[in-house]
Amino acid sequence: MIFVTDMQKIFTAASFVLSLAFGASALTPTIDMDSRYLSWPTYSGSDLELVVDESGTHFTLWSPEAKAAQVILYDTDRNTPPVKVLDMTKGSGGVWRVSVPEQLYGKFYTFCVTDASGNRLAETPGVWAKAVGTNGHRAAIIDFTKTNPDGWDNDKGPAIENITDAVIYEMHHRDFSVHPTSGIAHKGKFLALTEPMTKSPEGAKTGLDHLKELGVTHVHILPSYDYNSVDESNLPANQYNWGYDPYNYNAPEGSYSTDPSNPSRRVEEMKKMVKSLHDAGIGVVMDVVYNHTANNDDSNFSLTAPGYYYRHRADGSYSDASGCGNETASERRQMRDFIVNSVKYWAEEYHIDGFRFDLMAIHDIETMNEVAAELKKINPNIFVYGEGWTAGDSPLPAENRALKENVAKMDGIAVFSDDIRDAVKGHYSNAKERGFATGKPGNEETVKIGIVASTAHPQVDYTKGNNSKFPYASAPTQIINYVSCHDDLTLTDKLAASMPEADEAQRKRAARLAQTIVFTSQGTPFMFAGEEIFRDKKGVHNSYKSPDSINAIDWTLKTSNSDQFDYYRNLIALRKAHPAFRMTSADEIAENIVFDKVDQPNIVSYSIKNNANGDVWKEIKLIFNGSEKAYLAKIAKGNWTVIARDGKISPDGLGEFKGGTIEVEPTSALILARLK
Ligand code: CA
Repeated sequence: MIFVTDMQKIFTAASFVLSLAFGASALTPTIDMDSRYLSWPTYSGSDLELVVDESGTHFTLWSPEAKAAQVILYDTDRNTPPVKVLDMTKGSGGVWRVSVPEQLYGKFYTFCVTDASGNRLAETPGVWAKAVGTNGHRAAIIDFTKTNPDGWDNDKGPAIENITDAVIYEMHHRDFSVHPTSGIAHKGKFLALTEPMTKSPEGAKTGLDHLKELGVTHVHILPSYDYNSVDESNLPANQYNWGYDPYNYNAPEGSYSTDPSNPSRRVEEMKKMVKSLHDAGIGVVMDVVYNHTANNDDSNFSLTAPGYYYRHRADGSYSDASGCGNETASERRQMRDFIVNSVKYWAEEYHIDGFRFDLMAIHDIETMNEVAAELKKINPNIFVYGEGWTAGDSPLPAENRALKENVAKMDGIAVFSDDIRDAVKGHYSNAKERGFATGKPGNEETVKIGIVASTAHPQVDYTKGNNSKFPYASAPTQIINYVSCHDDLTLTDKLAASMPEADEAQRKRAARLAQTIVFTSQGTPFMFAGEEIFRDKKGVHNSYKSPDSINAIDWTLKTSNSDQFDYYRNLIALRKAHPAFRMTSADEIAENIVFDKVDQPNIVSYSIKNNANGDVWKEIKLIFNGSEKAYLAKIAKGNWTVIARDGKISPDGLGEFKGGTIEVEPTSALILARLK
């Protein structure tokens, strides 16, 4: 995620004008030193902000420097005056408390803090609102025990032993279901993923049945917590946003529910979505964005404990490693606890199976290790991965950042491999640049780095790596392989931009070769929704607020590109059937993967030997030809089964081969396998 929303631009501009108007000397400089925040008492209780029990309704707000704090109660979610104001009393641990003897189900509330200088700040739903009304401005008091779908107590995601057994499908709720051809009733909603037997006009499966047919193990849903940009009071306007502008971290986004004004509805519908995916054997990964907030001084963090949750520059301004106007401070105890407790909450209350951390390197290593360790206690199948980079510089020292290069210091965390991504398809930021799969020589060694999941291998020369110069992963479980995601051009658009003279059939071959490299590499494969039917975004690389006409997946493509879909489906089936592609240690990879010497550019040839990871196949031979010239390979004599050749693939075999010379056609993968 690297973009700045218009709203954030406005805020940035407003702060700038403000500082000019008051002059630097009029501003109180914020001293961003640990000593300042270390002296703040922290509070780790699980009762923060709201608890309803038999003795009544209890409010608990962490705000150590506040002069006063109030709870303001409302009857409705917006546009109505308060019905009651409750003064809170300061207790230990920097928290303020007030209780009433009634169970206030159905009411709404905000907090109002008077800061250390005596200023009464704007109202806020707090940082722990678990249910909210329209646009999330007022928190809601609901009975969570009544939000569970039938069978929820026994609901479970798929059991996977290692993250490398996962096949991850990244999707946005609107992209996936909003197109008229989806055949889905609840377009753009959580409920879209609960509808069985939906079909395109041509009769191809869509929605949930499409995911089952494709064979992915997990869907990764783009931000689904309550974000800021889409106006939930005007849903007919069909606004679109990716959602990387967090507002309430612990409540679902209202525009994905059928009624944002009903706080229970969004909770119920998101849980139904999870249940329905789980019933289909598919896990749910949530994209989480704790690294920054949509607003600065008006964020819920700033309105409850001004200053504390963010990093600052020496002049007191917000530091901005997110490129979105601010960055949070995970190294501070209360912020770290917030992140850890928030993901725990989603895992426990919503049965979420995995988390993808946006700009993870803004967080410190210790926080990420705590996240992974705490989640494993809830469910050993939960996995965590993230972007091992920042979008700008940070006051957090590089050695403490959860960077890709530091992944070996993180237990149970994986990072996206930009190495394989850029080597296979060409650099992400240069649309016209080609990569290995599109005929550009010089990327062979980086493709090999991708194949071995950035682990140490005696035949891989890291000094020739494009993006990384050393084997930064200590195990393949630390690597997510991909060639496209919501960011940047889709693979379809990238191929169109970088091979303009090629026809569509040729570009589809290149996409198959690119994904064959990804799905047979060690590590965990990840794909962008719709790529399996060759979806595009009309060349728009940053579609974060583009209309549905750019972002929606047109499901008629499933029929017109049925050959592409079949290839992807078989490729996924191949990976799932063969543990050799899913090794779990660097030693196994070094022992079992043997690269061949080749005398032609744009060729990578290797074997996975020794019935790797318990595979029935003694040896798998993979040859990737990214060039426009056929490659003549010499294969040892044996009883080989042809698994992939000339743009076709079948896990059950396309034919037999007894060894000798074989032609690997341009822009294609050859895969052979033998049992002995
Ligand atoms: Ca929202």
